[in-house]
Amino acid sequence: MNIDTEAQARMQFVLALRARGVTDHAVLTAMEATPRDRFLDGVFKARAWEDVALPIGGGQTISQPSVVGLMTQALEVNKRCKVLEIGTGSGYQAAVLSHLARRVYTTERHRHLARSAEAVLRSLDRANVTVMPVDGAYGLPEQSPFDRILLTAAAEDPPAPLLAQLSVGGIMVLPVGQSDSVQTLLKVVKTEAGLDYEAMGEVRFVPLIEGMAED
Ligand code: SAH
Repeated sequence: MNIDTEAQARMQFVLALRARGVTDHAVLTAMEATPRDRFLDGVFKARAWEDVALPIGGGQTISQPSVVGLMTQALEVNKRCKVLEIGTGSGYQAAVLSHLARRVYTTERHRHLARSAEAVLRSLDRANVTVMPVDGAYGLPEQSPFDRILLTAAAEDPPAPLLAQLSVGGIMVLPVGQSDSVQTLLKVVKTEAGLDYEAMGEVRFVPLIEGMAED
Protein backbone atom coordinates (compact mmCIF):
# COMPACT_ATOMS: atom_id res chain seq x y z
CA MET A 1 0.00 0.00 0.00
CA ASN A 2 1.41 3.43 -0.80
CA ILE A 3 1.42 6.13 1.85
CA ASP A 4 -1.73 7.90 0.62
CA THR A 5 -3.73 4.70 0.32
CA GLU A 6 -2.56 3.64 3.75
CA ALA A 7 -3.51 7.02 5.29
CA GLN A 8 -6.91 6.77 3.64
CA ALA A 9 -7.39 3.19 4.86
CA ARG A 10 -6.55 4.27 8.41
CA MET A 11 -9.02 7.14 8.22
CA GLN A 12 -11.76 4.78 6.99
CA PHE A 13 -10.81 2.43 9.83
CA VAL A 14 -11.42 5.10 12.49
CA LEU A 15 -14.69 6.15 10.85
CA ALA A 16 -15.87 2.51 10.85
CA LEU A 17 -14.98 2.19 14.55
CA ARG A 18 -16.94 5.34 15.39
CA ALA A 19 -19.94 4.15 13.36
CA ARG A 20 -20.00 0.96 15.45
CA GLY A 21 -19.99 2.84 18.74
CA VAL A 22 -16.31 3.17 19.61
CA THR A 23 -16.36 6.84 20.63
CA ASP A 24 -13.79 7.04 23.45
CA HIS A 25 -11.04 9.35 22.24
CA ALA A 26 -8.18 7.58 24.01
CA VAL A 27 -9.30 4.19 22.65
CA LEU A 28 -9.57 5.54 19.08
CA THR A 29 -6.11 7.14 19.38
CA ALA A 30 -4.60 3.89 20.71
CA MET A 31 -6.14 1.92 17.84
CA GLU A 32 -5.00 4.42 15.23
CA ALA A 33 -1.47 4.18 16.66
CA THR A 34 -1.43 0.36 16.49
CA PRO A 35 -0.41 -1.00 13.06
CA ARG A 36 -2.74 -4.03 12.77
CA ASP A 37 -0.94 -5.24 9.62
CA ARG A 38 2.12 -6.09 11.73
CA PHE A 39 0.06 -8.69 13.63
CA LEU A 40 -1.04 -10.45 10.43
CA ASP A 41 0.71 -12.70 7.93
CA GLY A 42 0.95 -12.83 4.15
CA VAL A 43 -2.17 -12.05 2.19
CA PHE A 44 -4.06 -10.94 5.29
CA LYS A 45 -1.79 -7.91 5.85
CA ALA A 46 -3.53 -6.12 2.97
CA ARG A 47 -6.87 -6.44 4.81
CA ALA A 48 -5.57 -5.15 8.16
CA TRP A 49 -7.62 -1.94 8.09
CA GLU A 50 -10.92 -3.67 7.32
CA ASP A 51 -13.33 -4.16 10.21
CA VAL A 52 -13.20 -7.97 10.02
CA ALA A 53 -11.76 -10.84 12.08
CA LEU A 54 -8.93 -12.64 10.22
CA PRO A 55 -7.04 -15.95 10.68
CA ILE A 56 -3.71 -15.90 12.56
CA GLY A 57 -2.72 -19.59 12.58
CA GLY A 58 -3.34 -22.40 15.06
CA GLY A 59 -7.05 -22.17 14.11
CA GLN A 60 -7.28 -18.84 15.97
CA THR A 61 -8.34 -15.37 14.84
CA ILE A 62 -7.40 -11.75 15.39
CA SER A 63 -10.65 -10.14 16.58
CA GLN A 64 -12.74 -7.69 14.58
CA PRO A 65 -11.38 -4.17 15.30
CA SER A 66 -14.77 -2.74 16.31
CA VAL A 67 -15.14 -5.55 18.86
CA VAL A 68 -11.61 -4.83 20.16
CA GLY A 69 -12.66 -1.17 20.43
CA LEU A 70 -15.94 -1.85 22.24
CA MET A 71 -14.30 -4.27 24.69
CA THR A 72 -11.41 -1.90 25.38
CA GLN A 73 -13.85 0.98 25.89
CA ALA A 74 -15.95 -1.10 28.32
CA LEU A 75 -12.79 -1.92 30.29
CA GLU A 76 -12.28 1.81 31.16
CA VAL A 77 -8.48 1.49 31.25
CA ASN A 78 -6.33 4.33 32.55
CA LYS A 79 -2.61 4.87 33.10
CA ARG A 80 -2.77 3.59 36.68
CA CYS A 81 -4.14 0.20 35.62
CA LYS A 82 -2.43 -3.17 35.69
CA VAL A 83 -4.28 -5.25 33.11
CA LEU A 84 -4.49 -9.01 32.50
CA GLU A 85 -5.54 -10.32 29.09
CA ILE A 86 -6.42 -14.00 28.54
CA GLY A 87 -5.86 -14.99 24.90
CA THR A 88 -2.88 -13.10 23.41
CA GLY A 89 -3.47 -14.51 19.91
CA SER A 90 -1.67 -12.13 17.54
CA GLY A 91 -0.88 -9.63 20.33
CA TYR A 92 -2.96 -6.88 18.70
CA GLN A 93 -5.37 -6.36 21.61
CA ALA A 94 -2.44 -6.32 24.05
CA ALA A 95 -0.73 -3.64 21.92
CA VAL A 96 -3.87 -1.48 22.00
CA LEU A 97 -4.11 -1.92 25.79
CA SER A 98 -0.43 -1.01 26.22
CA HIS A 99 -1.15 2.55 25.04
CA LEU A 100 -3.81 3.00 27.74
CA ALA A 101 -2.53 1.04 30.75
CA ARG A 102 0.48 1.17 33.04
CA ARG A 103 1.23 -2.53 32.68
CA VAL A 104 -0.22 -5.35 30.59
CA TYR A 105 0.18 -9.10 31.19
CA THR A 106 -1.19 -11.33 28.46
CA THR A 107 -1.47 -15.14 28.49
CA GLU A 108 -1.63 -17.58 25.57
CA ARG A 109 -1.94 -21.41 25.55
CA HIS A 110 -0.35 -21.76 22.06
CA ARG A 111 3.39 -21.28 22.58
CA HIS A 112 4.05 -20.39 18.93
CA LEU A 113 1.42 -17.63 19.03
CA ALA A 114 2.89 -16.29 22.28
CA ARG A 115 6.37 -16.25 20.69
CA SER A 116 5.34 -14.43 17.53
CA ALA A 117 3.14 -11.95 19.45
CA GLU A 118 6.06 -11.21 21.75
CA ALA A 119 8.38 -10.57 18.78
CA VAL A 120 5.93 -8.14 17.16
CA LEU A 121 5.27 -6.32 20.44
CA ARG A 122 9.02 -5.98 21.00
CA SER A 123 9.57 -4.65 17.46
CA LEU A 124 6.91 -2.00 18.20
CA ASP A 125 8.59 -1.06 21.52
CA ARG A 126 5.57 -2.03 23.61
CA ALA A 127 7.82 -2.32 26.66
CA ASN A 128 5.01 -2.43 29.25
CA VAL A 129 3.57 -5.72 27.88
CA THR A 130 4.63 -9.17 29.13
CA VAL A 131 3.51 -12.22 27.13
CA MET A 132 3.16 -15.37 29.25
CA PRO A 133 2.87 -18.77 27.52
CA VAL A 134 0.55 -20.21 30.18
CA ASP A 135 -3.03 -21.46 30.62
CA GLY A 136 -4.84 -18.23 31.45
CA ALA A 137 -7.95 -19.92 32.82
CA TYR A 138 -6.32 -19.75 36.25
CA GLY A 139 -5.03 -16.21 35.77
CA LEU A 140 -1.62 -15.16 37.00
CA PRO A 141 -1.82 -15.42 40.80
CA GLU A 142 1.77 -14.21 41.28
CA GLN A 143 0.97 -10.86 39.60
CA SER A 144 -2.53 -10.41 41.06
CA PRO A 145 -4.59 -8.45 41.91
CA PHE A 146 -5.40 -6.83 38.55
CA ASP A 147 -7.34 -3.58 38.05
CA ARG A 148 -8.71 -4.85 34.75
CA ILE A 149 -9.11 -8.33 33.24
CA LEU A 150 -10.06 -8.97 29.60
CA LEU A 151 -10.85 -12.38 28.13
CA THR A 152 -10.70 -12.69 24.36
CA ALA A 153 -11.85 -16.33 24.40
CA ALA A 154 -15.35 -17.38 25.47
CA ALA A 155 -16.02 -19.04 28.83
CA GLU A 156 -19.29 -20.65 29.89
CA ASP A 157 -19.20 -18.53 33.05
CA PRO A 158 -16.75 -15.94 34.41
CA PRO A 159 -13.88 -18.15 35.70
CA ALA A 160 -13.77 -18.03 39.53
CA PRO A 161 -9.93 -17.76 39.73
CA LEU A 162 -10.07 -14.66 37.52
CA LEU A 163 -12.83 -13.03 39.59
CA ALA A 164 -10.68 -13.70 42.66
CA GLN A 165 -7.70 -11.95 41.03
CA LEU A 166 -9.71 -8.79 40.22
CA SER A 167 -9.16 -5.91 42.66
CA VAL A 168 -12.07 -4.19 44.41
CA GLY A 169 -13.16 -1.40 42.04
CA GLY A 170 -11.82 -3.52 39.18
CA ILE A 171 -13.53 -4.34 35.88
CA MET A 172 -13.57 -7.58 33.91
CA VAL A 173 -14.90 -7.88 30.33
CA LEU A 174 -15.50 -11.27 28.73
CA PRO A 175 -17.59 -13.19 26.21
CA VAL A 176 -19.77 -15.83 27.93
CA GLY A 177 -21.70 -18.68 26.38
CA GLN A 178 -21.34 -21.89 24.39
CA SER A 179 -18.40 -21.84 22.00
CA ASP A 180 -20.39 -22.87 18.93
CA SER A 181 -23.10 -20.25 19.22
CA VAL A 182 -23.53 -16.54 19.74
CA GLN A 183 -22.12 -15.37 23.04
CA THR A 184 -22.91 -12.42 25.29
CA LEU A 185 -20.31 -9.80 26.05
CA LEU A 186 -20.37 -9.31 29.80
CA LYS A 187 -18.95 -6.50 31.93
CA VAL A 188 -18.33 -7.40 35.57
CA VAL A 189 -17.58 -4.71 38.17
CA LYS A 190 -16.22 -5.81 41.55
CA THR A 191 -17.38 -3.64 44.45
CA GLU A 192 -17.08 -3.89 48.24
CA ALA A 193 -20.59 -5.35 48.19
CA GLY A 194 -19.98 -7.98 45.50
CA LEU A 195 -20.15 -8.30 41.73
CA ASP A 196 -22.28 -6.24 39.31
CA TYR A 197 -23.00 -7.71 35.87
CA GLU A 198 -23.97 -5.88 32.69
CA ALA A 199 -24.70 -7.62 29.37
CA MET A 200 -23.35 -5.62 26.44
CA GLY A 201 -24.48 -7.33 23.24
CA GLU A 202 -23.65 -10.36 21.16
CA VAL A 203 -20.21 -11.49 20.03
CA ARG A 204 -18.54 -14.62 18.66
CA PHE A 205 -15.17 -15.75 20.01
CA VAL A 206 -13.14 -18.96 19.98
CA PRO A 207 -13.55 -20.98 23.21
CA LEU A 208 -11.43 -20.66 26.33
CA ILE A 209 -9.72 -24.06 26.57
CA GLU A 210 -8.00 -25.32 29.71
CA GLY A 211 -4.42 -26.58 29.50
CA MET A 212 -1.57 -25.72 27.14
CA ALA A 213 -1.87 -26.55 23.42
CA GLU A 214 0.44 -29.28 22.06
CA ASP A 215 2.44 -26.98 19.76
N1 SAH B 1 -6.70 -11.06 21.57
C1 SAH B 1 -6.27 -11.73 20.34
C2 SAH B 1 -7.34 -12.62 19.72
C3 SAH B 1 -7.67 -13.74 20.60
S1 SAH B 1 -8.21 -15.25 19.88
C4 SAH B 1 -5.73 -10.75 19.34
O1 SAH B 1 -5.75 -9.54 19.59
O2 SAH B 1 -5.24 -11.20 18.30
C5 SAH B 1 -8.33 -16.13 21.41
C6 SAH B 1 -7.01 -16.67 21.90
O3 SAH B 1 -7.25 -17.24 23.19
C7 SAH B 1 -6.45 -17.81 21.03
O4 SAH B 1 -5.17 -17.49 20.59
C8 SAH B 1 -6.45 -19.02 21.98
O5 SAH B 1 -5.35 -19.88 21.78
C9 SAH B 1 -6.37 -18.32 23.34
N2 SAH B 1 -6.82 -19.13 24.48
C10 SAH B 1 -7.89 -19.97 24.59
N3 SAH B 1 -7.95 -20.53 25.81
C11 SAH B 1 -6.88 -20.04 26.51
C12 SAH B 1 -6.39 -20.25 27.84
N4 SAH B 1 -6.99 -21.08 28.71
N5 SAH B 1 -5.29 -19.58 28.22
C13 SAH B 1 -4.65 -18.74 27.36
N6 SAH B 1 -5.05 -18.51 26.10
C14 SAH B 1 -6.17 -19.14 25.67
